[in-house]
Amino acid sequence: MTEDIIYDVVIIGGGPAGLSAAQYAARANLKTIVLDKSSTAGALAFTGKIENYPGLPEPVSGKELLETFRTQAISFGAEYVEAQVAGVNLNSEIKEIFTIDKIYKSKSIIIATGSMGRKPGIPGEKEFLGRGVSYCAICDAAFYKGKTVCVIGDSEEAVKEAGVLTRFAETVYLIAPSKELKVPDDYPVLAKKNLSVIKKHKVTKITGTDVVEKIILRDIEKDEEKEMAIDGVFVYLHGNKPIVDFLNFTIDISDDKCIITNKMMETNIPGVFAAGDVTCVEVRQVVIAASNGCIAALSAEKYIHKRKRRKYDWAKS
Ligand SMILES: Cc1cc2nc3c(=O)[nH]c(=O)nc-3n(C[C@H](O)[C@H](O)[C@H](O)COP(=O)(O)OP(=O)(O)OC[C@H]3O[C@@H](n4cnc5c(N)ncnc54)[C@H](O)[C@@H]3O)c2cc1C
Repeated sequence: MTEDIIYDVVIIGGGPAGLSAAQYAARANLKTIVLDKSSTAGALAFTGKIENYPGLPEPVSGKELLETFRTQAISFGAEYVEAQVAGVNLNSEIKEIFTIDKIYKSKSIIIATGSMGRKPGIPGEKEFLGRGVSYCAICDAAFYKGKTVCVIGDSEEAVKEAGVLTRFAETVYLIAPSKELKVPDDYPVLAKKNLSVIKKHKVTKITGTDVVEKIILRDIEKDEEKEMAIDGVFVYLHGNKPIVDFLNFTIDISDDKCIITNKMMETNIPGVFAAGDVTCVEVRQVVIAASNGCIAALSAEKYIHKRKRRKYDWAKS
């Protein structure tokens, strides 16, 4: 079914990037809708506790913070619909967005689908995500002060993240399935006293009760398994994977498969913007996703009204 309504902005993804964009777009009197696959599927929804979002001195759960973002966007007039976008047609001035049961039409699009596209591969990884399993040492290292954690992976990113964790955890194991790490032997992080590198080993299971308590570690050469007590597991096997499959190569994507934007969150297609973890942003944090969403909405408003400059404030009083 095709919607008769032509929206000013269709926002794909209802995480902090998409909902911040919705708030700014709706507040600018743009007819705005957020199409969100699921309110529990994004990175923020998986985050157990957030204590570094500016303005919130007390820790909140990711779900609570997301709910606040959503309520605020809706209160300014944005529509929110749970629907997965399966494809887009960006060839004409009015763009089409395809979900299973509807085709939405819009003058502009903001893509904010995040980067949770890598399927959890280790038994227990999905179950304990946000409860001891993490993909972000910068986000979660402070929760592991004086504890034992492991980082799984052999990439430079994995080694760097292990370095962040050595500043907080008592012991950090860097567990690599390969024979060698993808960094030189004299890489500074490797000299940290509380870091032990375990090569040619694979984590075959993550277990616990409420939170992670143990991992099962297999020695690939000897084909032997042992248990290891662990408080936190940081997975860097393939890195995060931006969700761009539904775009079908219609916009410019980098070699790392993230959406290329300029600093005003414009893609290569006029009227199509992107924000948050789906873009080629180096630091994945809620505050950055939210600010990207704000910029994308201001850029969409400028595009729709064919303004020369962005308008910044729509306060009514
Ligand atoms: C375990 C964990 C802990 C973290 N801890 C912190 C922290 O302490 N502090 C911090 O600042 N950051 C933290 N982060 C990072 C932060 O959560 C992300 O940077 C932020 O959520 C990115 O926002 P986003 O809106 O770009 O993407 P997301 O939050 O991933 O939201 C993307 C949304 O898009 C939707 N979507 C995806 N595909 C489609 C589709 N085809 N159609 C429609 N909708 C779709 C999803 O359902 C989701 O709602 C953490 C991340 C993880 C995974």
